[in-house]
Amino acid sequence: MPDNARRIAIIGGGLTGLVAADRLAAAGQKAVVYERYPEAGGLVGTFKVGGEPLECFYHHLFTSDRDYVSLARDLGLGDALEWLPSKMGFYSHGRLWDFGTPFSLLKFHPLGVRGRLEFVLSTLALRHNPRWQPLEAETAVDWFRKNGYGRALAEVWGPLLRQKYGRHWEEIGLVWLWGKIALRTRSRDETGLGERLGYMKGSFGRAVDALLKRLGERGGEFRPTRPVKLVRRAAGGYEVTAKGGSETFDLVLSTVAIPEFLNLVPDLPDALRDRWRKVRYTHALCPVLILDRSLSKYYWTNVGDTQMPFGGVIEHTNYIPRERYGGHHVIYISNYVLPDDPKWTMRDSDLWQIYLPALEKMMPALAQAKVLEKHLFRAEYAQPIIPARYSETLPEVRTELSGLYSASMAQIYPEDRGQNYAVKMGRQAAETILSDLSDGRIGAPS
Ligand SMILES: Cc1cc2nc3c(=O)[nH]c(=O)nc-3n(C[C@H](O)[C@H](O)[C@H](O)COP(=O)(O)OP(=O)(O)OC[C@H]3O[C@@H](n4cnc5c(N)ncnc54)[C@H](O)[C@@H]3O)c2cc1C
Repeated sequence: MPDNARRIAIIGGGLTGLVAADRLAAAGQKAVVYERYPEAGGLVGTFKVGGEPLECFYHHLFTSDRDYVSLARDLGLGDALEWLPSKMGFYSHGRLWDFGTPFSLLKFHPLGVRGRLEFVLSTLALRHNPRWQPLEAETAVDWFRKNGYGRALAEVWGPLLRQKYGRHWEEIGLVWLWGKIALRTRSRDETGLGERLGYMKGSFGRAVDALLKRLGERGGEFRPTRPVKLVRRAAGGYEVTAKGGSETFDLVLSTVAIPEFLNLVPDLPDALRDRWRKVRYTHALCPVLILDRSLSKYYWTNVGDTQMPFGGVIEHTNYIPRERYGGHHVIYISNYVLPDDPKWTMRDSDLWQIYLPALEKMMPALAQAKVLEKHLFRAEYAQPIIPARYSETLPEVRTELSGLYSASMAQIYPEDRGQNYAVKMGRQAAETILSDLSDGRIGAPS
């Protein structure tokens, strides 16, 4: 490590923090990653099913996720990426429908003839729109209504937005939906009849492990079970106080959610604090069932019925062969909840009493299934709420305090958060720091 190496504290050992640390360490800096939990990975953390690691929260890649693919190759994991077809379903009007291909749309009765046309026209309009800036001022809902796409909104997009964002659904910016539609439709296979999604054989946790290993080899440090509690300006840098003690660093990069960052750094100027406080999130509840049988033919089923207590069912083993998981079937339930939703603080047993009857109503095969395992994972600040004109709130990587940076999910825009953009954001944060060091924007090492 060179004599002029800076000591850089990175708060958060998720993908963004590890990628930034990897890049900084490669450039000869001393990167020290603080993680609150015993394991690295954050939202791509894993547990084991039938001896095989599996993400606690369902994960796949789109074919447009080039930054992630380049990271996997760089870590020697390029061959571990597999691109497999997947089937999508939609639950609406009390039954399951095929969804996501031109042929299935023809048979999707809830939309009617007019609604199908609206759905196709609205999807094409967003997909072929090259620039997001002209869409910035508008909410998704206003755009659908203004353009006469009311039926597509009522039957498909409206229920999906409500399931994900609760009472904030009408505030969601058109840019957010544009990002989703553009990325998703780019993941279609050449026939246009289905979708190919990417997975890492052995789980996405392999990339996390490879990053940790390389960080150690490059002279960096990973400090698990060391939640950071306070970051204060100190002579020559910042004093970072974590469980187990305080230490001074030349620079600090935070990768935690914006509300947590604001709590950690009392010295932040009021103007920045006021703007960044506007960033809001939903939390995620993610029940996982390990069963002896399949519940449907779909990998991904959207729930377009707002009476149902969740927004999606993801049958992982309809996408990845179940033989890898000891022959078991893996079913995730996707449920985003606002921070004040009573479900967020409910006990697991009470939540299962809500989820299981609803799932059985939707997929009656559950009644005969043997439940081998049940898990319920929770993630705070799991999805930023992106309203119209978000660029006016969007937090920058450089804060107003020299040597203090932030790179988090809420800083990804105009795309939606995802592993690909965590990689991009981690790299961008490291490059920003390195360029500030080489420009002399930041003083000599302490
Ligand atoms: C339900 C769900 C499904 C998803 N599905 C997909 C998908 O299919 N495909 C995809 O690409 N992406 C998906 N994502 C998104 C993807 O997981 C994230 O975009 C990515 O993992 C974010 O990485 P990150 O490092 O920015 O954040 P995080 O993973 O949240 O990492 C932040 C880290 O900071 C730590 N931390 C927090 N506070 C402190 C503290 N005070 N001190 C120290 N450490 C702290 C946390 O423990 C965590 O490890 C999904 C996310 C969710 C919630």
